[in-house]
Amino acid sequence: MQNLWNEHDAQAFDNDLDLRVYSSRLLGQDKSLVLHGGGNTSVKIKQENILGEKESLLYVKGSGWDLETIEAEGYAPVKLNHLLKLSQLDVLSDAQMVNELKTNMTLASAPGPSVETILHALLPYKYVDHTHSDAVVSITNTANGKERIQSIYGNKVVIIPYVMPGFDLSRLCAELFPKEVTNETIGMVLMNHGIFSFGDSAKESYDRMIELVSMAEDYLDQQRALEVESSYINTSLESEDISAIHIARLRNEISAHLHYPVILQQQRTPQTLAFANHPQITHISQQGPATPDHVIRTKQLPMLGTELNSSIDNYISNYQSYFTAGAKTPHDGQKKTMLDPLPRIILDKKAGMITMGKSIKDADIVADIYQHTIDIILRATQLGGFQALPSQDIFDVEYWELEQAKLKKSSKSSAGSSDFSGEIALVTGAVTGIGKACVDSLLTRGACVVALDILPEIESLYQRSDYLGICCDVTDEDAIIEALDKTLRHFGGLDMLILNAGIFPGGCRIEELSLKDWRRVMDINLDANVSLLSKAHPFLKLAPNGGRIIAMGSKNVPAPGPGAAAYSSAKAALNQLARVAALEWGKDNIRINTLHPNAVFDTAIWTPEVLAARAEHYGMTIEAYKTNNLLKTEITSKDVAELAAEMCGSLFAKTTAAQIPIDGGNDRVI
Ligand SMILES: [Zn+2]
Repeated sequence: MQNLWNEHDAQAFDNDLDLRVYSSRLLGQDKSLVLHGGGNTSVKIKQENILGEKESLLYVKGSGWDLETIEAEGYAPVKLNHLLKLSQLDVLSDAQMVNELKTNMTLASAPGPSVETILHALLPYKYVDHTHSDAVVSITNTANGKERIQSIYGNKVVIIPYVMPGFDLSRLCAELFPKEVTNETIGMVLMNHGIFSFGDSAKESYDRMIELVSMAEDYLDQQRALEVESSYINTSLESEDISAIHIARLRNEISAHLHYPVILQQQRTPQTLAFANHPQITHISQQGPATPDHVIRTKQLPMLGTELNSSIDNYISNYQSYFTAGAKTPHDGQKKTMLDPLPRIILDKKAGMITMGKSIKDADIVADIYQHTIDIILRATQLGGFQALPSQDIFDVEYWELEQAKLKKSSKSSAGSSDFSGEIALVTGAVTGIGKACVDSLLTRGACVVALDILPEIESLYQRSDYLGICCDVTDEDAIIEALDKTLRHFGGLDMLILNAGIFPGGCRIEELSLKDWRRVMDINLDANVSLLSKAHPFLKLAPNGGRIIAMGSKNVPAPGPGAAAYSSAKAALNQLARVAALEWGKDNIRINTLHPNAVFDTAIWTPEVLAARAEHYGMTIEAYKTNNLLKTEITSKDVAELAAEMCGSLFAKTTAAQIPIDGGNDRVI
């Protein structure tokens, strides 16, 4: 394990809290130590309060902050002496603990202190670091894990048997730690959970974490259980995969159970394929998570196989049994209400791994966690067998109010405008103009967006996980099939389609129009949409909330102008195609509506030359031409895109085959 401490960087920080932030971020950078909000750190500081009195404060990581990106504001200052007194109580309920932590903070704006605050307080060291190190839990999660940990560390660590995190864990440590601590102690191992290190300085505590985790890695190496990657080598990505339509069916079935659409993301890598094809997969994957707090993201177990109906029905019924058993004797004695019983991870011999989430962010987090879990399970298997905690312990964490609060907090922060959360839209001709504006409007409403364009810039238009740019010539049917396949494997389905790609060649009268130019316009503005509609139909039919299509028409459909024969004819034919699609696909709960924009000048079609030529054609100035409508208003790409997005939403849920002008009012159309 690499020690990332950099003395030059560290010297930039001249106070205890800033150094705390610095070394916490070093821990957060290493995914084999902590993942997505896991782990926590603290520092004890003496500070003067407003009355000039010295106070001992514990600055502890606030709930909802991630070590990788934490800042000083991510730490909550809590009165240390009060925390030490709390650690001596026999019982403290979750509600009482949360209340005590909150009411003993000295900064009203600070985040809620970590659920491990009391534990941090009672360890008598200035800096305390806690991680869920992959290497350490690979060793603790085995049948004779405790003996192995003892043989690796001797007196360097105090070993704490597994108990539920929160007050019980603090209470147990308050009792065991003082009894077992020695002069050599530099850390503490929590069985089936993780590891603590501590020291007088940020560097000492961090160095010790690296030292202790490195010792665990060395042990795994000696046991030939560290480099499990070698077992992936024989896996071929060329082997048969499940089909894109099968993924869409799976998503449809899961969404139907949940009553809301979800994202499915396929992770087909040598690692996931090798794991899904492991000869003991039905045993090793059905034990439980590597560390209990993963359960709120991953559920206790992954689903095996992707058989429609049977795989999911079995999973649900097993989950119901797990819930019924767990809810009989919950840790806090309270009545529990079952959470959704659907899997977050699917392992399949052909597909590798598929993760599920309400958003792509959630599905990504699940994937990250399980990629680490796979290696932990394989290492523990090398040591003789992975052994997770009993179901009741996992249940107690999954149904722990304080864990559920974490999940609610993170889903709130990621939701944004949520009209289309869990849904997927595809936009063609998306690199500029109306297409790009549609991408923006759909992303703003929470959809995952696949953007197609012939220009390669489309691939790097946005760097965000809910965006996938594909360079694609829409007149090439094979390229469309490939783009749809990528869409399905990346996001799990297709709910909305915006047919936007098109070209507008300069004014050309019919007698001068070559058949070649005519065909090129037809190819892009019409034929490509026939291909896309026909290839997208099976997926749109499986959209949980019904498929929605917007065809970008033109004012030229109801009111053509001279000099644009090919363009006007292609758009008129597209409009007719949309009307027939509405007739044919209404029974599939797919609705298709057409927008007729006019005079949208912030698009790639309207080069300054074309604009000038059209203005001249009508004998107007460019400015007058731009606002040449009844409302005397300019129509922007964003105006069109916002309407297109709204037409995919609930406001238009009962509208299909409509043609809506967005042109500021045009007397020729009226
Ligand atoms: Zn922990």
